[in-house]
Amino acid sequence: MATSVTSSGLSTSVKRCTKCGKDVNGQRRMKDPKGNYWCYECGSQDEVNKGSGTLVQPCPGCKKPIHAMNMVRDKKSGQYMCEDCASKGKGGGGGMDAKKKKMIMAALAIAVLGAIAFYMNMPRG
Ligand SMILES: [Zn+2]
Ligand SMILES: [Zn+2]
Repeated sequence: MATSVTSSGLSTSVKRCTKCGKDVNGQRRMKDPKGNYWCYECGSQDEVNKGSGTLVQPCPGCKKPIHAMNMVRDKKSGQYMCEDCASKGKGGGGGMDAKKKKMIMAALAIAVLGAIAFYMNMPRG
């Protein structure tokens, strides 16, 4: 059972991006768990596409996958989001949206009416 190991010759020193085939020897590169090399461009692209990399998170505002490096902290909500959303200030969480506000107002109105009705029905003495 002699498994012939491919002779380590010319090809071993050449590191090529598994996606685009670019020679990444001496370049900024990534290596996946399978041992494949990725050039930096393809590697970061792949992270974005997968959306599962710890560095890539969906923006809480527009749900686009954003690399952690491109996220900025929204002052209002304290959440990290893409620059676009942070500048627009549409970060959720911090402020209440109109619908929620309306619901709270309605609940308050019912509570006030209930209290008045209760007060009016209170037996005197
Ligand atoms: Zn590549
Ligand atoms: Zn966004």
